[in-house]
Amino acid sequence: MSNVKHLECTICHRTYKDIPDMMTCPACGEKGILDVIYDYDKIRAVVDKDYFKHQDDHSIWRYLPFLPVDPRYTKNTLRVGMTPLYDSLELGQSLGIDNLYVKDEGLNPTQSLKDRASVIAVVKAKEAGYDTVACASTGNAASSLAGNSAKVGLSSVIFVPKRAPTGKLAQLLAYGAKLFKVDGDYRDTYELSKQAIAKYGWYNRNAAVNPFLVEGKKTVALEIAEQLDFDVPDWVVVSVGDGCTIAGVFKGFMDLFEIGMIERIPKLLGVQSEGCQPFVSAWESNEDLIPTAENTIADSIAVGIPRNPIKAIRAVKNSTGRWISVSDSAILEAMRLLGKTEGIFAEPAAACALAGLIKARKLGFINKSDRTVVMCTGNGLKDTANALSAFKEPTLVKNDISELDAQMR
Ligand SMILES: *Cc1c(COP(=O)(O)O)cnc(C)c1O
Ligand SMILES: [Zn+2]
Repeated sequence: MSNVKHLECTICHRTYKDIPDMMTCPACGEKGILDVIYDYDKIRAVVDKDYFKHQDDHSIWRYLPFLPVDPRYTKNTLRVGMTPLYDSLELGQSLGIDNLYVKDEGLNPTQSLKDRASVIAVVKAKEAGYDTVACASTGNAASSLAGNSAKVGLSSVIFVPKRAPTGKLAQLLAYGAKLFKVDGDYRDTYELSKQAIAKYGWYNRNAAVNPFLVEGKKTVALEIAEQLDFDVPDWVVVSVGDGCTIAGVFKGFMDLFEIGMIERIPKLLGVQSEGCQPFVSAWESNEDLIPTAENTIADSIAVGIPRNPIKAIRAVKNSTGRWISVSDSAILEAMRLLGKTEGIFAEPAAACALAGLIKARKLGFINKSDRTVVMCTGNGLKDTANALSAFKEPTLVKNDISELDAQMR
Protein backbone atom coordinates (compact mmCIF):
# COMPACT_ATOMS: atom_id res chain seq x y z
CA MET A 1 0.00 0.00 0.00
CA SER A 2 1.34 3.40 -0.75
CA ASN A 3 -0.76 6.44 -0.07
CA VAL A 4 2.40 8.49 0.07
CA LYS A 5 3.31 10.52 -2.99
CA HIS A 6 6.68 11.75 -1.82
CA LEU A 7 8.55 13.62 0.90
CA GLU A 8 8.78 17.38 0.43
CA CYS A 9 11.25 19.82 1.99
CA THR A 10 9.52 22.48 4.11
CA ILE A 11 12.12 25.06 2.98
CA CYS A 12 13.06 24.51 -0.69
CA HIS A 13 10.07 22.30 -1.61
CA ARG A 14 12.26 19.77 -3.41
CA THR A 15 10.65 16.34 -3.35
CA TYR A 16 12.19 12.99 -2.50
CA LYS A 17 11.25 9.34 -2.75
CA ASP A 18 9.62 7.90 0.36
CA ILE A 19 12.32 5.71 1.92
CA PRO A 20 12.04 4.54 5.53
CA ASP A 21 15.29 6.02 6.82
CA MET A 22 15.16 9.33 4.97
CA MET A 23 15.66 12.20 7.42
CA THR A 24 16.22 15.83 6.35
CA CYS A 25 16.59 17.46 2.91
CA PRO A 26 20.11 16.85 1.54
CA ALA A 27 20.04 20.26 -0.16
CA CYS A 28 19.03 22.27 2.93
CA GLY A 29 20.79 20.23 5.61
CA GLU A 30 19.47 19.70 9.11
CA LYS A 31 16.96 22.54 8.94
CA GLY A 32 15.36 21.07 5.83
CA ILE A 33 12.65 19.15 7.66
CA LEU A 34 10.64 16.96 5.29
CA ASP A 35 6.88 16.68 5.13
CA VAL A 36 5.11 13.48 4.06
CA ILE A 37 2.78 14.29 1.15
CA TYR A 38 -0.16 11.96 0.51
CA ASP A 39 -2.23 11.05 -2.48
CA TYR A 40 -5.57 12.09 -1.00
CA ASP A 41 -7.51 10.53 -3.87
CA LYS A 42 -6.26 7.14 -2.72
CA ILE A 43 -7.21 7.82 0.92
CA ARG A 44 -10.60 9.18 -0.09
CA ALA A 45 -11.26 6.00 -2.03
CA VAL A 46 -10.96 3.92 1.16
CA VAL A 47 -12.01 6.19 4.01
CA ASP A 48 -15.45 7.54 4.82
CA LYS A 49 -17.62 7.48 7.94
CA ASP A 50 -18.57 3.86 7.26
CA TYR A 51 -14.91 2.92 7.23
CA PHE A 52 -14.71 3.88 10.91
CA LYS A 53 -17.97 2.15 11.82
CA HIS A 54 -16.59 -1.14 10.55
CA GLN A 55 -13.08 -0.68 11.85
CA ASP A 56 -12.38 -3.07 14.71
CA ASP A 57 -8.74 -2.24 15.36
CA HIS A 58 -8.63 -0.28 18.61
CA SER A 59 -5.20 1.25 18.23
CA ILE A 60 -3.40 3.79 16.09
CA TRP A 61 -3.48 1.22 13.27
CA ARG A 62 -7.16 1.89 12.63
CA TYR A 63 -5.80 4.97 10.82
CA LEU A 64 -3.49 2.95 8.54
CA PRO A 65 -4.74 4.59 5.32
CA PHE A 66 -3.38 7.88 6.70
CA LEU A 67 -0.02 6.48 7.77
CA PRO A 68 3.28 6.11 5.90
CA VAL A 69 3.99 2.56 7.06
CA ASP A 70 4.11 -0.93 5.63
CA PRO A 71 1.25 -2.83 7.36
CA ARG A 72 3.33 -6.00 7.48
CA TYR A 73 5.39 -4.48 10.29
CA THR A 74 2.49 -3.24 12.40
CA LYS A 75 1.33 -6.57 13.77
CA ASN A 76 3.15 -7.04 17.04
CA THR A 77 3.51 -3.52 18.42
CA LEU A 78 2.38 -2.08 21.74
CA ARG A 79 -1.27 -0.96 21.70
CA VAL A 80 -0.91 2.78 21.11
CA GLY A 81 -3.76 5.30 20.90
CA MET A 82 -7.53 5.12 21.34
CA THR A 83 -7.24 7.09 24.55
CA PRO A 84 -10.41 8.54 26.08
CA LEU A 85 -11.79 11.94 25.21
CA TYR A 86 -13.63 12.92 28.37
CA ASP A 87 -16.62 15.19 28.36
CA SER A 88 -15.37 17.35 31.23
CA LEU A 89 -18.42 18.99 32.75
CA GLU A 90 -17.00 19.81 36.15
CA LEU A 91 -13.77 21.28 34.78
CA GLY A 92 -15.72 23.12 32.09
CA GLN A 93 -17.91 24.68 34.73
CA SER A 94 -14.99 25.91 36.77
CA LEU A 95 -13.47 27.52 33.64
CA GLY A 96 -16.75 28.86 32.29
CA ILE A 97 -16.70 26.77 29.10
CA ASP A 98 -19.91 25.03 28.03
CA ASN A 99 -18.28 22.20 26.08
CA LEU A 100 -14.87 21.18 27.32
CA TYR A 101 -13.16 17.87 26.60
CA VAL A 102 -9.94 16.43 27.96
CA LYS A 103 -7.95 14.03 25.77
CA ASP A 104 -6.04 11.84 28.20
CA GLU A 105 -2.84 10.80 26.44
CA GLY A 106 -1.36 9.64 29.74
CA LEU A 107 -3.21 6.37 29.08
CA ASN A 108 -0.92 5.33 26.25
CA PRO A 109 1.27 2.25 26.94
CA THR A 110 4.24 4.24 28.25
CA GLN A 111 1.97 6.98 29.61
CA SER A 112 2.52 9.80 27.14
CA LEU A 113 1.54 10.97 23.68
CA LYS A 114 5.09 10.16 22.52
CA ASP A 115 4.01 6.55 21.95
CA ARG A 116 2.19 7.67 18.83
CA ALA A 117 5.52 8.72 17.33
CA SER A 118 7.66 5.94 18.78
CA VAL A 119 5.52 3.14 17.41
CA ILE A 120 5.96 4.64 13.94
CA ALA A 121 9.71 4.93 14.54
CA VAL A 122 10.10 1.26 15.40
CA VAL A 123 8.03 0.19 12.40
CA LYS A 124 10.14 2.37 10.07
CA ALA A 125 13.34 1.03 11.65
CA LYS A 126 12.14 -2.51 10.95
CA GLU A 127 11.16 -1.63 7.38
CA ALA A 128 14.64 -0.26 6.83
CA GLY A 129 16.29 -3.30 8.42
CA TYR A 130 17.92 -1.67 11.47
CA ASP A 131 18.42 -3.51 14.75
CA THR A 132 19.01 -0.46 16.97
CA VAL A 133 17.14 2.82 17.37
CA ALA A 134 18.30 5.91 19.24
CA CYS A 135 17.13 9.30 20.38
CA ALA A 136 17.79 12.26 22.63
CA SER A 137 14.89 13.20 24.79
CA THR A 138 13.87 15.18 27.83
CA GLY A 139 12.35 11.90 29.04
CA ASN A 140 9.04 10.85 27.49
CA ALA A 141 10.27 10.18 23.96
CA ALA A 142 13.05 8.21 25.59
CA SER A 143 10.93 5.95 27.76
CA SER A 144 8.44 5.63 24.93
CA LEU A 145 11.06 4.60 22.40
CA ALA A 146 12.53 2.14 24.89
CA GLY A 147 9.15 0.48 25.52
CA ASN A 148 8.09 0.37 21.89
CA SER A 149 11.49 -1.01 20.83
CA ALA A 150 11.38 -3.71 23.46
CA LYS A 151 8.02 -4.92 22.22
CA VAL A 152 9.17 -5.39 18.62
CA GLY A 153 12.59 -6.78 19.49
CA LEU A 154 14.80 -3.81 18.67
CA SER A 155 17.61 -2.47 20.89
CA SER A 156 17.42 1.15 21.98
CA VAL A 157 20.09 3.68 22.91
CA ILE A 158 18.82 6.71 24.77
CA PHE A 159 20.36 10.05 25.69
CA VAL A 160 18.68 12.14 28.41
CA PRO A 161 19.72 15.38 30.09
CA LYS A 162 20.97 15.16 33.65
CA ARG A 163 17.71 16.65 35.01
CA ALA A 164 15.36 13.96 33.57
CA PRO A 165 12.86 12.93 36.31
CA THR A 166 13.53 9.58 37.99
CA GLY A 167 10.13 8.12 37.03
CA LYS A 168 11.09 8.29 33.38
CA LEU A 169 14.56 6.88 34.03
CA ALA A 170 13.13 3.95 35.97
CA GLN A 171 10.81 3.22 33.05
CA LEU A 172 13.68 3.30 30.57
CA LEU A 173 15.77 0.92 32.53
CA ALA A 174 12.86 -1.47 33.03
CA TYR A 175 12.41 -1.57 29.26
CA GLY A 176 16.06 -2.60 28.89
CA ALA A 177 17.36 0.49 27.09
CA LYS A 178 21.01 1.44 26.99
CA LEU A 179 20.86 4.76 28.81
CA PHE A 180 23.29 7.68 28.75
CA LYS A 181 22.62 10.56 31.11
CA VAL A 182 24.31 13.58 29.57
CA ASP A 183 26.02 16.05 31.85
CA GLY A 184 24.30 19.12 30.42
CA ASP A 185 20.93 20.39 29.23
CA TYR A 186 18.71 19.14 26.42
CA ARG A 187 20.76 20.99 23.80
CA ASP A 188 23.93 19.17 24.85
CA THR A 189 22.03 15.91 24.96
CA TYR A 190 20.69 16.42 21.47
CA GLU A 191 24.13 17.31 20.05
CA LEU A 192 25.77 14.21 21.49
CA SER A 193 22.97 11.95 20.22
CA LYS A 194 23.32 13.45 16.76
CA GLN A 195 27.01 12.65 16.61
CA ALA A 196 26.53 9.18 18.05
CA ILE A 197 23.71 8.30 15.64
CA ALA A 198 25.85 9.38 12.67
CA LYS A 199 28.85 7.48 13.97
CA TYR A 200 27.18 4.21 14.95
CA GLY A 201 24.52 4.09 12.23
CA TRP A 202 21.46 3.65 14.47
CA TYR A 203 17.93 4.45 13.34
CA ASN A 204 17.22 8.08 14.29
CA ARG A 205 14.10 8.75 16.37
CA ASN A 206 14.87 12.40 16.98
CA ALA A 207 11.42 13.81 16.58
CA ALA A 208 11.92 16.85 14.42
CA VAL A 209 14.40 15.50 11.88
CA ASN A 210 12.55 12.23 11.35
CA PRO A 211 9.68 13.12 8.99
CA PHE A 212 7.53 10.11 9.89
CA LEU A 213 7.03 10.84 13.57
CA VAL A 214 4.68 13.79 13.12
CA GLU A 215 2.53 11.37 11.11
CA GLY A 216 2.15 9.22 14.21
CA LYS A 217 1.39 12.21 16.38
CA LYS A 218 -1.30 13.35 13.99
CA THR A 219 -3.42 10.31 14.90
CA VAL A 220 -4.42 12.14 18.08
CA ALA A 221 -6.29 14.65 15.89
CA LEU A 222 -7.85 11.87 13.81
CA GLU A 223 -9.05 10.31 17.03
CA ILE A 224 -10.41 13.53 18.51
CA ALA A 225 -12.37 14.09 15.29
CA GLU A 226 -13.68 10.53 15.26
CA GLN A 227 -14.64 10.70 18.95
CA LEU A 228 -16.66 13.85 18.23
CA ASP A 229 -18.29 12.20 15.23
CA PHE A 230 -16.33 14.47 12.87
CA ASP A 231 -17.93 17.62 14.27
CA VAL A 232 -14.59 19.20 15.20
CA PRO A 233 -14.12 21.59 18.14
CA ASP A 234 -13.41 25.32 17.89
CA TRP A 235 -10.12 25.10 19.79
CA VAL A 236 -7.53 22.44 20.55
CA VAL A 237 -5.05 23.33 23.29
CA VAL A 238 -1.57 21.76 23.20
CA SER A 239 1.61 22.26 25.21
CA VAL A 240 4.65 22.83 23.00
CA GLY A 241 8.35 21.94 23.28
CA ASP A 242 9.99 20.95 19.99
CA GLY A 243 6.75 21.66 18.15
CA CYS A 244 6.15 18.21 16.66
CA THR A 245 2.98 17.51 18.62
CA ILE A 246 1.17 20.67 17.59
CA ALA A 247 2.38 20.20 14.01
CA GLY A 248 0.99 16.67 14.12
CA VAL A 249 -2.37 17.82 15.45
CA PHE A 250 -2.64 20.25 12.56
CA LYS A 251 -1.64 17.63 10.00
CA GLY A 252 -4.29 15.21 11.28
CA PHE A 253 -7.07 17.74 10.90
CA MET A 254 -5.73 18.79 7.48
CA ASP A 255 -5.82 15.18 6.28
CA LEU A 256 -9.49 14.90 7.25
CA PHE A 257 -10.21 18.26 5.66
CA GLU A 258 -8.49 17.21 2.44
CA ILE A 259 -10.64 14.11 2.09
CA GLY A 260 -13.79 16.07 2.92
CA MET A 261 -14.57 14.47 6.27
CA ILE A 262 -14.48 17.70 8.28
CA GLU A 263 -15.54 21.16 7.26
CA ARG A 264 -12.96 23.30 8.99
CA ILE A 265 -9.74 23.16 11.00
CA PRO A 266 -9.92 23.89 14.75
CA LYS A 267 -7.89 26.84 16.02
CA LEU A 268 -4.74 25.68 17.81
CA LEU A 269 -3.58 27.26 21.06
CA GLY A 270 0.13 26.54 21.57
CA VAL A 271 1.14 26.79 25.22
CA GLN A 272 4.66 27.14 26.61
CA SER A 273 6.12 27.75 30.04
CA GLU A 274 7.38 31.27 30.72
CA GLY A 275 10.75 29.78 31.70
CA CYS A 276 11.26 28.46 28.17
CA GLN A 277 9.07 30.12 25.57
CA PRO A 278 10.93 30.52 22.26
CA PHE A 279 7.76 30.09 20.16
CA VAL A 280 5.76 32.59 22.19
CA SER A 281 8.56 35.17 22.04
CA ALA A 282 8.98 34.74 18.28
CA TRP A 283 5.23 35.12 17.82
CA GLU A 284 5.04 38.21 20.01
CA SER A 285 8.00 39.93 18.36
CA ASN A 286 7.14 38.64 14.91
CA GLU A 287 10.77 37.60 14.50
CA ASP A 288 12.78 34.43 14.07
CA LEU A 289 13.09 31.99 16.92
CA ILE A 290 15.98 32.67 19.27
CA PRO A 291 17.52 29.98 21.49
CA THR A 292 16.48 30.41 25.12
CA ALA A 293 17.31 29.00 28.55
CA GLU A 294 15.37 26.01 29.85
CA ASN A 295 14.08 27.14 33.25
CA THR A 296 10.85 25.35 34.01
CA ILE A 297 9.50 22.43 36.01
CA ALA A 298 7.77 21.28 32.81
CA ASP A 299 10.77 19.20 31.74
CA SER A 300 9.11 17.63 28.69
CA ILE A 301 8.67 21.02 27.04
CA ALA A 302 11.90 22.60 28.27
CA VAL A 303 13.33 22.89 24.77
CA GLY A 304 15.54 25.95 24.28
CA ILE A 305 16.18 25.25 20.60
CA PRO A 306 13.04 23.78 19.04
CA ARG A 307 13.95 21.46 16.17
CA ASN A 308 10.67 21.67 14.32
CA PRO A 309 9.84 25.36 14.27
CA ILE A 310 8.61 25.61 10.69
CA LYS A 311 5.84 23.04 10.94
CA ALA A 312 4.75 24.24 14.39
CA ILE A 313 4.59 27.93 13.45
CA ARG A 314 2.77 27.06 10.24
CA ALA A 315 0.26 24.93 12.18
CA VAL A 316 -0.74 27.69 14.58
CA LYS A 317 -0.78 30.33 11.87
CA ASN A 318 -2.79 28.35 9.32
CA SER A 319 -5.29 27.29 11.96
CA THR A 320 -5.69 31.01 12.84
CA GLY A 321 -4.80 30.07 16.40
CA ARG A 322 -2.29 31.70 18.74
CA TRP A 323 0.48 31.25 21.28
CA ILE A 324 0.49 31.83 25.03
CA SER A 325 2.80 31.19 27.97
CA VAL A 326 2.15 30.45 31.64
CA SER A 327 4.14 30.45 34.87
CA ASP A 328 5.28 27.31 36.68
CA SER A 329 2.94 28.12 39.56
CA ALA A 330 0.01 28.33 37.12
CA ILE A 331 1.07 24.90 35.82
CA LEU A 332 0.95 23.40 39.31
CA GLU A 333 -2.41 25.08 39.93
CA ALA A 334 -3.76 23.55 36.70
CA MET A 335 -2.41 20.16 37.75
CA ARG A 336 -4.38 20.39 41.00
CA LEU A 337 -7.55 21.48 39.23
CA LEU A 338 -7.36 18.68 36.63
CA GLY A 339 -6.79 16.10 39.34
CA LYS A 340 -9.57 17.38 41.56
CA THR A 341 -12.23 17.88 38.90
CA GLU A 342 -11.46 15.11 36.42
CA GLY A 343 -9.49 12.43 38.24
CA ILE A 344 -6.62 12.84 35.82
CA PHE A 345 -3.05 13.16 37.10
CA ALA A 346 -0.93 15.17 34.64
CA GLU A 347 2.81 15.73 34.60
CA PRO A 348 3.78 19.43 34.59
CA ALA A 349 4.32 19.67 30.81
CA ALA A 350 0.87 18.21 30.29
CA ALA A 351 -0.86 20.44 32.83
CA CYS A 352 0.75 23.38 31.02
CA ALA A 353 -1.91 23.12 28.30
CA LEU A 354 -4.73 23.48 30.79
CA ALA A 355 -2.93 26.41 32.45
CA GLY A 356 -2.81 28.06 29.02
CA LEU A 357 -6.50 27.48 28.51
CA ILE A 358 -7.31 29.02 31.91
CA LYS A 359 -5.29 32.10 30.96
CA ALA A 360 -6.82 32.30 27.48
CA ARG A 361 -10.28 32.12 29.03
CA LYS A 362 -9.41 34.93 31.46
CA LEU A 363 -7.99 37.08 28.66
CA GLY A 364 -11.24 36.44 26.80
CA PHE A 365 -10.02 35.11 23.49
CA ILE A 366 -11.60 31.74 24.14
CA ASN A 367 -15.31 32.19 24.78
CA LYS A 368 -17.83 30.36 26.93
CA SER A 369 -19.51 28.86 23.89
CA ASP A 370 -16.29 27.73 22.15
CA ARG A 371 -16.13 23.92 22.05
CA THR A 372 -12.65 23.19 23.33
CA VAL A 373 -10.39 20.15 23.62
CA VAL A 374 -7.44 20.37 25.99
CA MET A 375 -4.79 17.71 25.65
CA CYS A 376 -3.20 16.03 28.64
CA THR A 377 0.00 14.79 27.02
CA GLY A 378 1.62 12.80 29.84
CA ASN A 379 0.92 11.06 33.14
CA GLY A 380 1.83 12.63 36.49
CA LEU A 381 3.47 9.49 37.87
CA LYS A 382 6.44 10.25 35.64
CA ASP A 383 7.45 13.17 37.82
CA THR A 384 6.20 12.91 41.36
CA ALA A 385 8.80 15.26 42.85
CA ASN A 386 7.41 18.36 41.17
CA ALA A 387 3.83 17.27 41.83
CA LEU A 388 4.51 16.79 45.54
CA SER A 389 5.95 20.29 45.72
CA ALA A 390 2.47 21.59 44.91
CA PHE A 391 0.81 20.02 47.93
CA LYS A 392 1.01 20.14 51.70
CA GLU A 393 2.81 17.34 53.53
CA PRO A 394 0.30 14.60 54.38
CA THR A 395 -0.85 14.47 57.99
CA LEU A 396 0.86 11.79 60.08
CA VAL A 397 -1.36 10.18 62.71
CA LYS A 398 -0.96 7.38 65.23
CA ASN A 399 -3.18 4.31 65.07
CA ASP A 400 -5.58 6.07 67.45
CA ILE A 401 -9.12 7.09 66.53
CA SER A 402 -9.27 9.92 69.05
CA GLU A 403 -6.14 11.47 67.55
CA LEU A 404 -7.77 11.12 64.10
CA ASP A 405 -10.93 12.78 65.46
CA ALA A 406 -8.83 15.70 66.64
CA GLN A 407 -7.13 15.97 63.24
CA MET A 408 -10.46 15.79 61.40
CA ARG A 409 -11.59 18.87 63.29
C1 LIG B 1 6.92 15.99 24.17
C2 LIG B 1 5.84 16.49 25.02
C3 LIG B 1 5.14 17.66 24.73
C4 LIG B 1 5.42 18.55 23.55
O1 LIG B 1 5.65 17.94 22.35
P1 LIG B 1 6.67 18.60 21.28
O2 LIG B 1 6.54 17.78 20.09
O3 LIG B 1 8.02 18.55 21.90
O4 LIG B 1 6.22 20.00 21.09
C5 LIG B 1 4.14 18.04 25.60
N1 LIG B 1 3.84 17.33 26.70
C6 LIG B 1 4.47 16.20 27.01
C7 LIG B 1 4.08 15.45 28.24
C8 LIG B 1 5.50 15.74 26.19
O5 LIG B 1 6.16 14.63 26.53
ZN1 LIG C 1 15.34 21.58 1.03
